[in-house]
Amino acid sequence: MTQNCIFCKIVAGEMPTTLLYQDEQVTAFRDIHPVAPTHILIIPNRHIASTNEAAPEDEALLGHLIGVARLLAERENIAANGYRLVINTGADGGQVVFHLHLHLLGGRKLVHP
Ligand code: 5GP
Ligand code: ZN
Repeated sequence: MTQNCIFCKIVAGEMPTTLLYQDEQVTAFRDIHPVAPTHILIIPNRHIASTNEAAPEDEALLGHLIGVARLLAERENIAANGYRLVINTGADGGQVVFHLHLHLLGGRKLVHP
């Protein structure tokens, strides 16, 4: 675990959260400040700061994040109407938490930023 990383603490079960999914590679939970009726974060269990730090051998892991997002979209009944997957990277990307995470947003019509 990376020291003082809030998402590493969530993976380790040391931080209260609405856990929705966890396997050996990834963890998913509800965003604490939802901007859509469904707003879920899907993260790798291993600390990767951002897409800038992801290595070529992490490609399967990054693909798995999307697979779990799709599974959760089906569980949330938003798959048919559609949803948005977002990864923010760095300052200009609006990244606030530096443990890579995929936002799953849906449940309302989303306008382009
Ligand atoms: P970013 O801007 O880095 O892509 O998004 C970080 C997201 O993490 C934000 O949407 C924020 O609401 C969420 N977040 C920050 N701290 C916590 C927390 O302690 N628990 C949960 N569930 N979400 C958090
Ligand atoms: Zn972390």
